[in-house]
Amino acid sequence: METNQKPIIGIVSPCYNEALVLPETAIKLNEIIANLVGNDRISEKSFVVFVDDGSKDLTWQIIEERASHLPYIKGLKLAANVGHQKALLAGLLTFNEEADALISIDADLQDDISVIEQMISKFQSGTDVIYGVRKERTTDTSFKRNTALLFYRLMKMMKVNIIHNHADYRLCSKRVIKALSDFGEVNLFLRGIIPSIGFSKDIVYYDRLERFAGESKYPFRKMAAFAWNGITSFSNYPLKLVSIIGFVIFFLCLIMTGYALFAIYSGDVVPGWLSTVLPMYFLGGVQLFCFGIIGEYIGKIYSEVKQRPRYFIDKRVD
Ligand code: UDP
Ligand code: MG
Repeated sequence: METNQKPIIGIVSPCYNEALVLPETAIKLNEIIANLVGNDRISEKSFVVFVDDGSKDLTWQIIEERASHLPYIKGLKLAANVGHQKALLAGLLTFNEEADALISIDADLQDDISVIEQMISKFQSGTDVIYGVRKERTTDTSFKRNTALLFYRLMKMMKVNIIHNHADYRLCSKRVIKALSDFGEVNLFLRGIIPSIGFSKDIVYYDRLERFAGESKYPFRKMAAFAWNGITSFSNYPLKLVSIIGFVIFFLCLIMTGYALFAIYSGDVVPGWLSTVLPMYFLGGVQLFCFGIIGEYIGKIYSEVKQRPRYFIDKRVD
């Protein structure tokens, strides 16, 4: 993207039962696009699209109403509630052809929209993915903060490559979204997929604000399911863990055998103990270890079945 060319920027925001926040969000996002267009920073073809993820309240009516009054607002309605990640994906894939870059943001505007301009600058100087990263979580409840911290720790422990403190607030260039469209998986975990696509990346930092109306659609149960999905669709580490545990038990068993033999020599024995207890540990260890090996293969099958694209070409010279 040349700096003198004005890029078309699309903002994509998934909404599920967001009737309370949407009127305000639409005004704010429309205004930010209008300002950027007014300052000649971006093309007047830029837009904001709200993806209604099968809401049960007035969300869609509000989107329609806003779209008819505000110049940059568009809407996309999904047939059913498919969840945040898939709703976002639907918006990104549907509107990719109509923009040079798409910015994803939650409808509750907890992510500071004033860094959008920075994202666009970085995009214009040639960066493909710009992650919005929260500086601190002072406005979230301490429960939300701690569970989120736990989430990132767990992901790291399970060797899932994600950007710390980055939710789904980011700018992606057209070719990144194009690459994303090649991922056929159903268990979407965009925070893991986008970093795995590669291309040039950068980060902008912002403070996480309070949800100004409505309530979080991510209670603990959904958060835990989200984390579990992230781990199991991005890492075979849990399977590896089984082999490791099996091996450790097997190893401990060997030590115990040594000890038991030593005990026979020293005469300090309970009759029948060795022949009863030891095989139990031994077999347990061997079994777990074997499960682990089978698991490794299942892991391989699993990653093959997903049929993920193997690479994306960044650029070439002729
Ligand atoms: N969302 C969605 N479908 C769902 C649940 C949530 O599109 O099934 C949207 C929601 O409207 C919001 C975003 O995903 O724009 C993030 O949800 P929320 O703010 O409730 O999550 P939190 O910020 O509390 O993690
Ligand atoms: Mg939120």
